[in-house]
Amino acid sequence: MNLSEIGYRRVVIKLGTSVLTSGSDRLDKAHMVELVRQMSSLMKAGVEVVLCTSGAIAAGREHLKFPTLQDTMANKQLLAAVGQSQLILAWSELFSLYGLHVGQLLLTRADLQDRERYLNARDSLNALLAQGIIPIINENDAVATAEIKVGDNDNLSARAALLCDASLLVLLTDQPGLFDADPRKNPDAKLISEVANIDDNLRKLAGGAVSGLGTGGMATKLEAADIARRAGVEVIIASGHHGNVIEKAVCKYDVGTHFFALKNPLESRKQWILAGPNTKGKLVLDEGAVNAVTLKGRSLLSKGIKGVVGIFQRGDTLAIVDSDGKMHAKGMVRYSSDDIKKIMGKHSDEFESILGHDYGDAVIHRNDMVVL
Ligand code: GLU
Repeated sequence: MNLSEIGYRRVVIKLGTSVLTSGSDRLDKAHMVELVRQMSSLMKAGVEVVLCTSGAIAAGREHLKFPTLQDTMANKQLLAAVGQSQLILAWSELFSLYGLHVGQLLLTRADLQDRERYLNARDSLNALLAQGIIPIINENDAVATAEIKVGDNDNLSARAALLCDASLLVLLTDQPGLFDADPRKNPDAKLISEVANIDDNLRKLAGGAVSGLGTGGMATKLEAADIARRAGVEVIIASGHHGNVIEKAVCKYDVGTHFFALKNPLESRKQWILAGPNTKGKLVLDEGAVNAVTLKGRSLLSKGIKGVVGIFQRGDTLAIVDSDGKMHAKGMVRYSSDDIKKIMGKHSDEFESILGHDYGDAVIHRNDMVVL
């Protein structure tokens, strides 16, 4: 391995529970140390590494000697609270073998939803990296409930990659990558080594695959890859047990499935609109408006809106869908759902007389919209 061939400056490495436990029900420290060796050699070669780790709940179960607990949210939080401290202790000890420090960042969706908190998390990540400290990220499972969670660490790691402006995201799992058929059912299934475009066909291929104890599967990995590549981040999905996989991925050796980044990545604010907030509702557009928004890059005007779904306020993020429910864009709205119900189909000249206020012609301005 020639580390002088490194193609990336800053990388996010996501390790799934199945990688950390090697498919067992406890942390495989021998394997973790091997992964730490690879990440440390990258750091020494001048690549900044951000680690997104799963395994808190698995580590909690192991530390408490596999207690019989009811499957409730509070018990999962309990396991995560115990396990996260064990997990960070393990990482901290292992990286210290290589003379490296780690810093822990526990995030929830709320930290990414609010633009200011998002920027604060970004400052923290950059400050750690500037001191040569490895940021270790996980979801704050001890306090997060389903509503405020990102939910899986594939998506969390993609958001982390955007946050710290990484050039590569490596998603390590128990599969060698994405296959052109289900390898468990079809012996002729072939590994897809390069993906230039994520389409419905690929999503269907990724649909069913789940892995071990973790939350995600290939579907969440594909979601993560899509978010990252739109922000200009390359993505590799590979097996966490493939020899020297991290070094190979970063040195551009042929390993796993490689997703190319889009040539014209979204600017920072649009990246946040795509990856940060949950959508609070939907606007249903007629065909002309869908075309104006997606093909001509226009702002969304009230005239082309046929329906409003959900209750939302000015500033919330919405899905923009066609009459079949297919999502075409995501954007921050300038009028509340109550307002839009009154002005949809109307011309903007009438806003003031109908609403008593006027926030401009665009219901969603093109600068606040990401076309998918
Ligand atoms: N945050 C979870 C944990 O550490 C993992 C989520 C996932 O597997 O994607 O246990």
